[in-house]
Amino acid sequence: MDSTTTVTTRRHRRKEKLLVIMGATGTGKSRLSIDLATRFPSMEIINSDKMQVYKGLDITTNKIPLHERLGVPHHLLGNVDPAHSELTPSEFRSVAGAIVSDITSRRKLPVLVGGSNSFIHALVVDRFDPNSDVFYDRSVSVSSELRYNCCFLWVDVSMMVLSEYLSSRVDDMLDSGMLEELAEFYNPDKASEDSAKRTGLRKAIGVPEFDRYFKSYRPGCEEEGTESEKDSLRTEAYEEAVRGIKENTRQLAKRQMGKILRLRRGGWDLRRVDATEAFRAVVTSSGRWSEIWAKQVVEPSVKIVKRFWDE
Ligand code: ATP
Repeated sequence: MDSTTTVTTRRHRRKEKLLVIMGATGTGKSRLSIDLATRFPSMEIINSDKMQVYKGLDITTNKIPLHERLGVPHHLLGNVDPAHSELTPSEFRSVAGAIVSDITSRRKLPVLVGGSNSFIHALVVDRFDPNSDVFYDRSVSVSSELRYNCCFLWVDVSMMVLSEYLSSRVDDMLDSGMLEELAEFYNPDKASEDSAKRTGLRKAIGVPEFDRYFKSYRPGCEEEGTESEKDSLRTEAYEEAVRGIKENTRQLAKRQMGKILRLRRGGWDLRRVDATEAFRAVVTSSGRWSEIWAKQVVEPSVKIVKRFWDE
């Protein structure tokens, strides 16, 4: 074998590196990705949250705001037109795969960040079969043959602490304008033109729950009845929607944790970083949140990523 052949063969064997930050909704994946990117400036982030890929509903879907991205490049975050029918795992594999190659060709490190395990799975497995679902079909086994050289960081928070945090996060989202955002999205005057546009986002938690509320209390329309009747009925309907959002968010987190455990049982080498204490500090307002986060989450993650980057 001549030297050219040897080099070519080696090059073919070398897989592209991909850092994957996974975890249930609300566990601080985006925050960690920025904390890491400020220490490893070569990182570029690819979003793998299936609702955040669409343009719109930024508060409702919890997209990291522009000013918190600190200039770190983000891909597939709010780029897809919501008129696009639901983005499938196959489509994600192909679009995100091209982005990984592009980032790698510029000698940067692609970092996949998001809670959609079906997207993560579709992107990283060597052979992806769109007709079989590893998460719902128990007869299908998880493949640990991956097409990238992956480092999986799993941000884990105990479900009890996470539940409490998620409930207060929904209140914060409402304070930040979630209801107004959803009212605009619902706007019945634009319904005919917009209804088709909502295909991708129609399942985002908050949309179906507030849909019922808006059907009775159409944004901008006055309802009939005395003032006190109107107020109490409206408050009841609002509270029911908020309860629904909190419950469905908790259920989503549980399902996502179940899927992560399934991938781990299937042989994926997930490096678990425990963020429970940091979140306990948030829910108890102890004031030590950022200190604990830096020590227990960022520090071990930096070590893992450094080793991965240098290998
Ligand atoms: P599935 O196999 O159920 O599609 P998945 O792991 O691919 O799961 P998830 O991220 O768990 O995808 O999303 C499942 C559902 O949870 C979405 O269809 C949506 O209803 C809701 N959801 C997920 N992410 C968000 C988000 N950022 N904002 C609002 N709702 C979300």
